[in-house]
Amino acid sequence: MNKQTIRDVDLKGKRVLVRVDFNVPIENGVITDDTRITAAIPTLEAILKQQPKDVVLMSHLGRPKEGVPEDQYSLKPVAAELGKLMKRTVEFEADPLSEAAVAKANALPAGTILVLENTRFFKGETKNDPDLAQKFAKYGDVFVNDAFGSAHRAHSSTEGVAKYLPAVAGLLMEKEINFLANAVDNPTRPLVAILGGAKVSDKIKVIESLLSKADKVLIGGGMANTFFKAQGISMGSSLVEDTAVETAKDLLAKSKGKLVLPVDGVIADDFKNEANTKTISVSEGVPDGWRMLDIGPKTVEEFRKILADAKTVVWNGPMGVFELDNFAKGTNAVAGVLADLTGKGVTTIIGGGDSAAAVQQAGLGDKITHISTGGGASLELLEGQALPGVVALKDK
Ligand code: AMP
Repeated sequence: MNKQTIRDVDLKGKRVLVRVDFNVPIENGVITDDTRITAAIPTLEAILKQQPKDVVLMSHLGRPKEGVPEDQYSLKPVAAELGKLMKRTVEFEADPLSEAAVAKANALPAGTILVLENTRFFKGETKNDPDLAQKFAKYGDVFVNDAFGSAHRAHSSTEGVAKYLPAVAGLLMEKEINFLANAVDNPTRPLVAILGGAKVSDKIKVIESLLSKADKVLIGGGMANTFFKAQGISMGSSLVEDTAVETAKDLLAKSKGKLVLPVDGVIADDFKNEANTKTISVSEGVPDGWRMLDIGPKTVEEFRKILADAKTVVWNGPMGVFELDNFAKGTNAVAGVLADLTGKGVTTIIGGGDSAAAVQQAGLGDKITHISTGGGASLELLEGQALPGVVALKDK
């Protein structure tokens, strides 16, 4: 990465303002997955080692109507969880834009961690309002951006604040960028990409970018259906994006054999776990009233063979409707293949979102080289786009 990090700056005695990604799932006040909190801790510990005056954290949480505080999106329980995980006192500030709050923060004892309330409770955050960015900037002498999951958004707390303070990357940001950018720009080859999920239209840019950079691109999930339709195969009631069929045709024509589609699939007579199912060859087509909800076992074997030669693998998007057990087999099998490859020295990278959830669900999280904390941000990196939250940081 060509940006400065916390290792390149002297933080001793400084007030360090850190943008983290604490956008964690909360159900009835209970945090159901603390991955993003634990992922920020190495950065926070490394900052504390430099003996700063204090460490002030900001993050968004969920999608409240901007400028309208709602209890269910408060970061208060997240601050408490961080305190438990770090075994430290963590303070919380509910009203960070008030002058009194800044004065209070400045009077905190050295080494204190303070979490500010959800940045989206304040008008202007998602519009990158400079006034709001300046108000956030009052909390720091240095700004550290460690929120990879929010780096693709130019918001006041990510890109905006970097204009008013010396701004560097945190260790999580550095790790994410190094893994994902290296994987596509400087990979140990062969590089094989696996793409799944619902829609081709969401991922056209990433498919195009990977077709130019990867050695093979394996397609699964609902998006494969649109490619099948483009080949004239009937898809019954399967999810097909009619508006993307022409694009799928173009991509197939451009792909020069790099793009690999499933050869078989699991079809169901209803969109539910208890539906009747059959495994069919794709060439047979899907009968009326049935829908393709997972890749089949022959496809898993085909993918396994191709992946056996890979030295780097990047995966984004599930191979089927993995939320329903009966259609999670393809996704779980691919997760298993990646876990085996990691054991053989292959670099395996999962680009966040649903595929990350699927790997964790299969209990294979610790057998993958790198699981990204940012779905949207990792897709944009794989597309070859610059992330505004990173562009704003100081160059090395
Ligand atoms: P995405 O957000 O584009 O990565 O899509 C993830 C979603 O795609 C998940 O909710 C899956 O259930 C869904 N999905 C994957 N395969 C299929 C399929 N064959 N038919 C319908 N939905 C699918």
